[in-house]
Amino acid sequence: MAAFGTVFMPQMAITKFENGNWTDTTTVSSDSISIHPGAHVLHYSSTCFEGLKAFKHDDGGVYIFRMDQNIKRFQQSSELLKLPSFDPQQVEEMILELVKQYADEVPAPPGSMYIRPTHVGTEASIGKAANPSLSSLLYILLSPVGDYFAGGAKPLRLLLDETGMRCAPHMGMIKSGGNYASALGPILAAKDEVQADQILFCPNGDVQETGAANFILIDGNEIITKGLDSSFLHGVTRASILTLAKDLGMTVSERDITVSELLERSAKPGVEAALSGTAAVLTPVGTFIHNDKEYTVGSGQAGETTMKLRQALNDIQWGKAEDKHNWLVKVL
Ligand SMILES: *Cc1c(COP(=O)(O)O)cnc(C)c1O
Repeated sequence: MAAFGTVFMPQMAITKFENGNWTDTTTVSSDSISIHPGAHVLHYSSTCFEGLKAFKHDDGGVYIFRMDQNIKRFQQSSELLKLPSFDPQQVEEMILELVKQYADEVPAPPGSMYIRPTHVGTEASIGKAANPSLSSLLYILLSPVGDYFAGGAKPLRLLLDETGMRCAPHMGMIKSGGNYASALGPILAAKDEVQADQILFCPNGDVQETGAANFILIDGNEIITKGLDSSFLHGVTRASILTLAKDLGMTVSERDITVSELLERSAKPGVEAALSGTAAVLTPVGTFIHNDKEYTVGSGQAGETTMKLRQALNDIQWGKAEDKHNWLVKVL
């Protein structure tokens, strides 16, 4: 199986903002775009994206998970980056039509079709460091993906970083390439120095998230995760897992957690930690690394509740459990 995100469907849907208007959607080859070397995005990082998935059910039907939430966040990212605002209806149609075109290529579970809307500022002006791009390109890429856990769900090792930051605090809610660029150096250093898989960013002791996933702690019947504020990315998976946890009768606590509370709690037997995101749904965390010491979370193995919640979400996505919250949109 090819690495996640390296295979693309041959065509993509695209629209351009120019002279104050969006063009009609067209479907073009997905192997290239043409932009000026002075394009705003290449110099001043006016770029944002989304990640959502389409699933194939046993009856052959194809369904997209919570598309409205991703389009809303895409619009929010665009606004915060001062990119042209778009018509959510047009983007929804772009996604639906493209997924319909490639319905036969949507992998069966545990695979899926990963959908990557992308929006970049294209105005050719290197003089606009402190001004927004007046033109942009918005396109939808499709990438079929396999089982994220083909090699088994090995619990992750997370470095707790209290001094660094994933991104500038006012950029936290924006799903933008710049934030990933900002986190890359520290993450590579953590991999190299303490063999961590990821950094859990905890500026001044405030437990936030990793480079690309939200963090949740499970203590018995309680699920604890940072409450929404503008410092981190509001994951659709996070929100969905919290809803399912409530459905299962769990207590959901959305509040700040400090590093000391985290380390104290995670020493208790039965405590679990996990990362949430569209690509992997929920990934168990087995170890924290903090000030050169290692802390095993609960048993150090994938937690029972983590796996139960992951299954509950997958079952809805895969059409094996009732979609009580109307999260799926039927493509065909
Ligand atoms: C995309 C992303 C997430 C996860 O969001 P989902 O909507 O659950 O996929 C979490 N944190 C960051 C920084 C992200 O970019």
